[in-house]
Amino acid sequence: MPASKGFAAQNPQTPLAPYNFSRREPGPTEILVDVLYCGVCHSDLHMARNEWGQAVYPLVPGHEIVGRVTATGKEVKNFKTGDVAAIGVIVDSCRHCAPCKRGEEHFCDEGATLTYAAKDRVDGSITMGGYSANYVVDERFAHTVPAHLDLAAVAPLLCAGITTYSPLRHWKVGPGKKVGIVGLGGLGHMGLKFAHAFGAHAVQLTTSLKKKEDALKLGADEVVVSTDANAMKAHAKSFDFILDTASAPHDIDPYLQLLKQDGTLTLVGLPEKPPAVNVFSLITRRASVAGSMIGGMPETQQMLDYCGQKNITADVEVIPIQKINEAFERMLKQDVKYRFVIDMSSLK
Ligand code: NAP
Ligand code: ZN
Ligand code: ZN
Repeated sequence: MPASKGFAAQNPQTPLAPYNFSRREPGPTEILVDVLYCGVCHSDLHMARNEWGQAVYPLVPGHEIVGRVTATGKEVKNFKTGDVAAIGVIVDSCRHCAPCKRGEEHFCDEGATLTYAAKDRVDGSITMGGYSANYVVDERFAHTVPAHLDLAAVAPLLCAGITTYSPLRHWKVGPGKKVGIVGLGGLGHMGLKFAHAFGAHAVQLTTSLKKKEDALKLGADEVVVSTDANAMKAHAKSFDFILDTASAPHDIDPYLQLLKQDGTLTLVGLPEKPPAVNVFSLITRRASVAGSMIGGMPETQQMLDYCGQKNITADVEVIPIQKINEAFERMLKQDVKYRFVIDMSSLK
């Protein structure tokens, strides 16, 4: 069995620390990938600290993986040794329910298998994520990467990228639409880049005044500091669509006030406490509050190919794995520009 090592949380309180384990031999349709880079998603922090009550320890986080294929099963068609492969939040699903057949594996009726802290469908073990040396995955759940893109900056596309691309596409964000992005973090900065690339009037809503210049450079047509009541009032009833990526518990009513008639606020951020909804804010504009989760395998590949055509990647701060606990603390202070990515060569 291929040996592996990574950084794991052993409980919700103590920092991540080195951890040795093994991967299974790749099956006929599976590939073994050496992890080159892994993005640091706020979900990794929520999970490591068991903020959603779903953690299983030891927990090796990481679901924004770019790596190099080092072995392939006999029936693998799309990858050969030496190729770059990318792995996101989902590594398996039932493959036969209606959502799976439609390529919406994230909505699998039987529940998709997550990249870490989930029960592996093949051997019943607990999945271990990408803060590690390698990964074994069925080729159906691996993606190809446009060759000219910087691999460290591609890694965050596998979660932050698809989680923002998918709802912006679903709600048809494009020319003539005024679109808000709440939170300029890992997800938010990708949402802003996509909203801009899709041709919408993109407005960054942020609690951090100091991020204003960056937001404009990242593609915002306007920046609104959401704690400034007057600035928010000036945009009342003017947005077609708002994507809320905030990671901490917050009042969503100020954002509902910004929606036009028939506008939608879509939540992708997953704070540990659910938000309250003021129904009056909905009925007075027939507004919708919705949610969205990553994306299926075909749409994830489509997003990567689109990023290849448009030269879109994440803005990253590359760190050695030994700095992961510091990175978590900085993420909590909203001090990320705009995604940490671990260079996995630091593990050796
Ligand atoms: P992140 O990089 O830490 O960014 C979160 C941003 O939220 C912060 O930079 C901050 O932006 C904003 N924020 C924080 N506290 C806030 C508050 N009280 N009010 C308003 N805004 C606040 O996190 P991330 O990796 O982008 O993840 C964001 C959330 O999405 C997490 O909860 C994560 O678990 C979730 N997530 C969901 C999915 C999905 O499929 N739905 C996938 C991945 C991640 P400003 O400084 O600009 O205010
Ligand atoms: Zn994520
Ligand atoms: Zn299924």
